[in-house]
Amino acid sequence: MRYLILSDLHANLPALDAVLADATGVGYDAVIVLGDLVGYGAQPAAVMERTFALNPVAMVRGNHDKVCAGIEPATTFNDVARASAEWTAARLSPGELRALGELPIGPRLVTDDLEICHGAPFDEDHYVFDLRDAGLAIEAMSGRICLFGHTHLPALYTTVDDPVESSGGDDDTLRLPTGGPSLINVGSVGQPRDGDPRAAYGVFDVDQGTMRLRRVAYDVAAAQAAILEAGLPPWLALRLAQGR
Ligand code: ZN
Repeated sequence: MRYLILSDLHANLPALDAVLADATGVGYDAVIVLGDLVGYGAQPAAVMERTFALNPVAMVRGNHDKVCAGIEPATTFNDVARASAEWTAARLSPGELRALGELPIGPRLVTDDLEICHGAPFDEDHYVFDLRDAGLAIEAMSGRICLFGHTHLPALYTTVDDPVESSGGDDDTLRLPTGGPSLINVGSVGQPRDGDPRAAYGVFDVDQGTMRLRRVAYDVAAAQAAILEAGLPPWLALRLAQGR
């Protein structure tokens, strides 16, 4: 069984299309989505439609999904995030807003061994940025493997001493430890923030016990043009080229 892992798509249609084309070449059996389908980018309806059409076997909502759907106020958002959330909410149909609002709260168990969340297994909105947060998240995990998003930064945390080999390249296959937990972020499809502007996603191969982290170049200029044409804050276009 191979799961295609998509997180933090952020209404970036050119990035999602590039990822799906690349993933078709890699091969996968089922799709898992870790939240933040919308917010920041200029094509929220199209990204939602593409994502739902994949018939994901498991999804969780992200903080942007909640705010755009009107479930939560934008009190924790900065001005740019709030402006994009208001723009997004105004452009989605009542049906689309309802579908966004009905995305499941995390964490969720996909199988006995595999859990997913947007932020952390103990709080769907918590950012896991460092070892302290990762330790708390690992304590709270229900499965041996937990996939998270929210930070837009690829990462793997484990308590197993034997280090997991990572080439840091654009096609990195991580062999997950069998004798301990793996807390993994595959990065962001629609707004990478690790300095590499290419879209990020993962393929988790259950039988091989591996997570393949992929980076895919996409038409950044098209995503930027859509953001500027929409009248969204120009920083949202600029940051896509910088990958931050
Ligand atoms: Zn996000």
